[in-house]
Amino acid sequence: MMKKNTLSFEFFPTRTPEGREKQKITRKQLRQYRPAFFSCTSGAGGSTRDGTLQAVNDIMAEGTAAAPHLPCVGMNEAELSDILHTYKNMGIRHIVALRGDIPSGMGAGSSGLRYANELVELIRRDFGDWFHIEVAAYPEFHPQARSAEDDINHFVRKVKAGADSAITQYFFNPDAYFRFVDDVRGRGVEIPIVPGIMPIASFSKLARFSDTCGAEIPRWLRLKLQSYADDTASIKALGLDVVTEMCEHLLEQGAPGLHFYTLNQAGLVSTICQRLGY
Ligand code: FAD
Repeated sequence: MMKKNTLSFEFFPTRTPEGREKQKITRKQLRQYRPAFFSCTSGAGGSTRDGTLQAVNDIMAEGTAAAPHLPCVGMNEAELSDILHTYKNMGIRHIVALRGDIPSGMGAGSSGLRYANELVELIRRDFGDWFHIEVAAYPEFHPQARSAEDDINHFVRKVKAGADSAITQYFFNPDAYFRFVDDVRGRGVEIPIVPGIMPIASFSKLARFSDTCGAEIPRWLRLKLQSYADDTASIKALGLDVVTEMCEHLLEQGAPGLHFYTLNQAGLVSTICQRLGY
C-alpha cells in the first residue's frame, strides 16, 4: 500500500445537460478516493465562463472543495476581478491561476494581463489570503519558453508573487519532475509541486496533445503504443501499467500528491487510484 497523499481531479466544462449529468456520475465515482478538491478548466478570454461556473456550483453543492481555473489572457483587470468576486461570494477558496493560451489573432500586447505572475499579484493585492492560489509548472519546460533557465526564473517569479502550490503539466519522465523540483528548491521555492498525471486512453490524441503542450512521450513508449494501432485495449493496459508505476515512483520519492487530468472520465483514473491503494 502506497503512502496516502492528497489527490485532486481535473474536469473540463460540459456543453449539454446530458454532459453535465454524466460528469456528476464521474465525480461521484471519483469522490470515493476522497480528493482534496475537484478543479474545472476554463477557456482563455472567458470563453467557457458559464460552463466553468456551473461545474463549480455543482461540485460545491455535492460537498467537495472546488478549484476553478482562471486563465487571465484576453481579459482586463475589471473582468478578472468580477469573476474573482463571484467565486469569493460563492465561498470558493481555491483558484488555479493561469495565463491561458492566447487565441490566434490576439497579440501579446492586447489589453489585459499577459502572464500568470501578474494574475497572482492581482489576486493577492485585491483578495489578500482569501484564495489558495495554485499555479502551473512545467518539468519539461513550457513550449514557448526562451530557455529552460528563463522558464524556471519565470516560475520562481510566479511563486514569489504569492502562489501557495503548483500543479505540473503531465509528463512521462519522472526525472524531469524531480530535477525541476530540485532546481526551484535551490532558488528558495518551498511550496508543494504536485505532479499532473495523464492517463493513456488513446495514442493519437495523446501524441497530438503532447506535441502541442511540450510533454515528451519517451521513444520506447511512443513506439510501443503506436504498434498497437487501433487495439485500444492494449493501449489502455500498457498505459495503466506505465502510469501507475510512475505514480508509485513519484509518491515513493516524495511527491506531495497527484493531480489527475480525468478528461471527464472516471475509468482509467479510478483503476490507477485503486492500484495505488487509495
Ligand atoms: P505563465 O506562467 O505566464 O508562462 C507562460 C510562458 O511565458 C512561459 O513560457 C514562461 O516562461 C513565460 N513567462 C512567464 N512569465 C513571464 C514574464 N513575466 N515575462 C516574460 N515571459 C514570461 N489553459 C487554459 O486555457 N485553461 C485552463 O483551464 C488551463 N488549465 C491548466 C492547468 C494546468 C495544471 C496546466 C499545467 C496548464 C493549464 N492550462 C490551461 C494551459 C496553460 O494556460 C498554458 O500552458 C499556457 O500557455 C501557460 O500558462 P501559465 O499559467 O503556465 O503561463
